[in-house]
Amino acid sequence: MSPRSSALAGAERVGTDRERPEYASTHIPPHRRPLPLMVADAVHRPETETTRARLSLRTREWDIGRWPGARAEQRERAAYLRRRTLADLEGNLARLTENIEANGGVVHRAKDAAEALAAIERIVTRRQAQLAVKSKSMVSEEIHLNDHLTGLGVEVVETDLGEYIVQIADERPAHIVAPAVHLSRTDVGRRFSAIAGRDLGDDPDDLAAFAREQLREDFRNADVGISGVNFAVAETGTLALVTNEGNADMVTSQPPVHIAVMTLEKVVQEFADLETLLPILSKAGANQEITVYQTLVNGPRREGETDGPEELHVVILDGGRSDIVGTRYEEALACIRCGACQTACPVFGAVGGGHAYGNVYGGPIGAVITPLLSDRPEDRDLPYLSSLCGACGDACPVKIPLPDMLVDLRADYQEETASPATRAAWRAWARTWASRAGFAATIAGARASAVLPERVLRRLPMAGGWARGRSMPSTKDAGQMRRRRRDGGRR
Ligand code: SF4
Repeated sequence: MSPRSSALAGAERVGTDRERPEYASTHIPPHRRPLPLMVADAVHRPETETTRARLSLRTREWDIGRWPGARAEQRERAAYLRRRTLADLEGNLARLTENIEANGGVVHRAKDAAEALAAIERIVTRRQAQLAVKSKSMVSEEIHLNDHLTGLGVEVVETDLGEYIVQIADERPAHIVAPAVHLSRTDVGRRFSAIAGRDLGDDPDDLAAFAREQLREDFRNADVGISGVNFAVAETGTLALVTNEGNADMVTSQPPVHIAVMTLEKVVQEFADLETLLPILSKAGANQEITVYQTLVNGPRREGETDGPEELHVVILDGGRSDIVGTRYEEALACIRCGACQTACPVFGAVGGGHAYGNVYGGPIGAVITPLLSDRPEDRDLPYLSSLCGACGDACPVKIPLPDMLVDLRADYQEETASPATRAAWRAWARTWASRAGFAATIAGARASAVLPERVLRRLPMAGGWARGRSMPSTKDAGQMRRRRRDGGRR
């Protein structure tokens, strides 16, 4: 039996004296509050300003679609490779399974979260595991793996520094590749000090050193290592993981059992695909030519090898993704989870990151895949959490047409939920704008409404909701706007 982790020994002190928030790690409720309420709260959270400021510093040239020459070619190639794999998803998964098993691993296909959790439970129970170390994995968030293992008496310690910080803070990750983007170093210092039982200050080097010291013992003592998978190569059965801290190397090589959890679209066809996908993932996600560590797992420890696990298990979750294959949203499965669309999205920054989406995946990709995968009817309105500015599509390294998908999902939502009165109103609007005279008349009406006081405007039928939170231009501004347009944009 392994000793318990010392790393989170004081974590309860952080979590128990406050009510658990809606964005707590173990608290995605079966029903969430309506989106406007979630967003109103998120905008006013103190952490939101930190997120906004941090993300604005990360703006890169390709966030506005300016992919430089060689990088643009790499992007085309990455987009092609992801779609080539998806075109024969089941064939690639069959080859992946065959090759992982040929390498000595065991594959568990799971149709949903319950099956994935059951497979993992069987492994940890058989090994009588008490302590699991874990490297970053969004899919484990999706199936609420930490909760499940904790319920079985297995202590789980996140080893990615950002994930470790949010675990201590009892929160979900706020960003795919920067889970603690919403927390300042003072926030982190406060949380680490609570665990240490002494003041650690807020120097990032000191805080990282503290985390390293805590985690080292856990790597040594863990019964199980749990990791995500960035890419799984069908041709060779290789699992590729990228980190900047080397924690995936420790998680996959030190404990006697390694459980890798992936969603089925993480498969790639050929080993050579990594040559394109690894660098573009690093560049889009963290603005690095390549991450500091790339871990390639080719099965459990073989005879004569000095490290590596005795057992390797790969859990492949479907979780509703096969239902997307063949639909107009299939390309969403090309996602390589770089988080670039989140970083580029002005709405994601304004609401303080992923928590406001009420789900595991936030930002533009979350607003697309969550309604497609979720059982909660209220998630269908997530595509409205976008200004449709197009930045997400420009930033995406695999050219997923996110803005088009957001519009299509809104149309689907309206198709299902619009009342007969709303449909009639939009039909009338379409007929009016189809004629030149009707269009001119409504524009004239809109111009005239600019002189109405806002309190009157907010009471007008259909305009009330739109007018809330907006201020109308003054008549002087409106006049200037008209003149500018007439003069071709010149001031
Ligand atoms: S949709 Fe594109 S930009 Fe967003 S996380 Fe996925 S690959 Fe990255």
